[in-house]
Amino acid sequence: MSRAGQERPAGRTVVAVVATTGEVLARPELHEGLLAPWERERLDRIRVPDRRDDVVAARLLVRLCAARFTGLAPQASSPAQYCAECERPGHGRPYLPGHPDVGVSLSHADGLVAAAVGPGAVGVDVEPAARRPGPLAVLSRMLPAADLREAAGLPDPGPALLRLWVRREARLKAGGGDVQLLEWTDERRAAVVAVAGAAPATAFTLDG
Ligand SMILES: [Zn+2]
Repeated sequence: MSRAGQERPAGRTVVAVVATTGEVLARPELHEGLLAPWERERLDRIRVPDRRDDVVAARLLVRLCAARFTGLAPQASSPAQYCAECERPGHGRPYLPGHPDVGVSLSHADGLVAAAVGPGAVGVDVEPAARRPGPLAVLSRMLPAADLREAAGLPDPGPALLRLWVRREARLKAGGGDVQLLEWTDERRAAVVAVAGAAPATAFTLDG
């Protein structure tokens, strides 16, 4: 049994960070050399430079989150991935090797990246605030009817629908079920972010 004072506060909540791709890539300690060979092989197949940058930044940011959560160095915080459907590594749900109780999630979209690491299941999603999910016919198959009705009744349903969307994505990535949701809009980065996890989440910036 451990006394509360011995536990790091970060170990009890989900660590979540949102940033622009440019902010992450400008950090000297977060460089492409941290990526594993299998990650670099995947990057080689991405032909759109901006998209490649987003993927690099997301993969670096998840290391930063893992390092903050575990107290290990970013070099010792490399996520792996495993796809249960194909029964193969290299894609599918990310995890932290050697830390089976730690949940890991990352997201990227058009120059924005987000990552979250926490105790148990974790899911994160980021979208540009100007993005509009849709059409409604498609959303009606994916979002709860009551939520959709409420959003559709607003003078401009777009922002509410986007928030419902990022919540849904975060919840799905966390494996669904009984999760706690944190959703916020980062005005400076024009980003809408949601984090779902077994534990409550705390949002950090790159600097702390
Ligand atoms: Zn697969």
